[in-house]
Amino acid sequence: MISEIIERNLAAVFSDIAAACERSGRRAQDVRLVAVTKYARPEWISALAEFHTVFGENRPQQLCERFEWLPQIQWHLIGQLQRNKVKMVLPAAAMIHSVDSLRLLHRIDDVARELQLKPQILLQVNVTGEASKSGFTPEQLTSQWAELVTLCASVHPAGLMTMAAESADPDDARPAFHSLAEILQELNARQESRDAGIHLTELSMGMSGDFVPAVECGATLVRIGSLLFEGLSEDS
Ligand SMILES: *Cc1c(COP(=O)(O)O)cnc(C)c1O
Repeated sequence: MISEIIERNLAAVFSDIAAACERSGRRAQDVRLVAVTKYARPEWISALAEFHTVFGENRPQQLCERFEWLPQIQWHLIGQLQRNKVKMVLPAAAMIHSVDSLRLLHRIDDVARELQLKPQILLQVNVTGEASKSGFTPEQLTSQWAELVTLCASVHPAGLMTMAAESADPDDARPAFHSLAEILQELNARQESRDAGIHLTELSMGMSGDFVPAVECGATLVRIGSLLFEGLSEDS
């Protein structure tokens, strides 16, 4: 029962991703789904694991616990990371989407060197300028880029992540998604990037409410939670 609902929800999401790719001349295999499990019950997560292998968690502690439980899954950290949790989370996280400051990047780079890991990281960008959101402002990213690049000796900077402003109309998110794609191109064109051999390829953008415009704007990673578990009630 749980399994059937999740399989159906997943199929609907993949079909919407495929249609959005079709409309925008992209290949569906260039968009990866990060299934966000932060609010999901353990039974739902084990059912989902029959069909999918890339999961996202927003709390480091919960990510580590769930990594121990399901080590075959690729666990992505999508929520805020404090510097004192870096050592705990690095061995468990396949990718960190939420690198939001120079200080945090510095810490991740140090710990990665110490643990001899090379984690995939994304820089979180606050494109909308909302005070409630963390992340580099586009201006900070531009002005701090030379320094950022030097802090990537032991990490693999794979791309950028953003969250659009909440809105009932998914199309309202388009300008934010377009901006993120433009910033990625600008950073790749910088001399510092070429000198360091850095080429950003990932755009982590789009959630349950706005992943369709995100894919049309170039998302390579969509982070979807609630839609996958729709129809499952707390007592099912
Ligand atoms: C919870 C969360 C998501 C998924 O949100 P849904 O609306 O449930 O799809 C995506 N990204 C981040 C950073 C989140 O915290």
